[in-house]
Amino acid sequence: MELGLAGKRAIVCAASRGLGKACAAALAREGVEVVITGRDVTVLEATAAEIGARWVAGDITTAEGRAAALAVCPAPDILVNNAGGPPPGDFRDFDDAAWETALNANMLSPMSLIRAVIGPMVARGFGRIVNITSASVRSPGPALALSNGARTGLTAAVAALARDVAKHNVTINHLLPGPFMTDRQVSLAAAAAKKTGVTVEAELARRAAENPAGRMGTADEFGAACAFLCSAQAGFIVGQSLLLDGGAFNTVF
Ligand code: NAP
Repeated sequence: MELGLAGKRAIVCAASRGLGKACAAALAREGVEVVITGRDVTVLEATAAEIGARWVAGDITTAEGRAAALAVCPAPDILVNNAGGPPPGDFRDFDDAAWETALNANMLSPMSLIRAVIGPMVARGFGRIVNITSASVRSPGPALALSNGARTGLTAAVAALARDVAKHNVTINHLLPGPFMTDRQVSLAAAAAKKTGVTVEAELARRAAENPAGRMGTADEFGAACAFLCSAQAGFIVGQSLLLDGGAFNTVF
């Protein structure tokens, strides 16, 4: 399918590895001029060369990091919001500082970028904003209170805005990853394995086996979904949270 994206400009945040990288690569394959961000310059530069993107180093959860990205791509047609996920743990152990960090990274920072880009998107009559959140928005993970809270907050915070800008062909949607085989997944599995005394490999295999699909998702599958949400054809998909979890969340709606 021709997605009608050639020549569009995109900022894909936190995209030197994993799901962000896959989104950036999928957009670049569609002829989008992509700018990726990340903190580790060596990895970022290598990824940018691999997928044919420009790069901006910086922490996207800081005002400076966001300003750097916007300086290189001031008027993106596409914004993919992403950042590292908060650490797992017990709710009782998360203090105010932990909550402030999580809320800043996974709720306030994407909102700040949305504020910066949405006006020009409305004026141009085209905009696609995709927030990478988590399956935890639909089905809260037991050890992921920080993630559950921040990402659900983001989803709710922009819900009315999504309806407000839809008439201008600007959409805001969310992609909710279940288990995808990335570095983040390995670190979450490692934390769980430490608790239960199994190996990380055994924990990863258990997670794959318990999924209805019998496996974890691939980053490429995630990137393809992102590219479609950004496509010209997706202008009527508004304010949705698309769960990509192999059917793990057992529900009809
Ligand atoms: P990942 O493999 O760990 O990759 C994270 C990427 O984000 C890296 O490129 C990293 O590069 C960059 N990054 C992290 N923090 C950043 C920051 N503050 N500023 C700029 N770049 C930053 O993670 P992933 O699996 O792709 O996950 C992406 C998001 O989806 C995360 O929020 C994660 O919690 C969520 N998620 C993932 C899964 C899964 O199964 N993979 C499931 C549910 C939710 P640098 O470290 O160099 O900055």
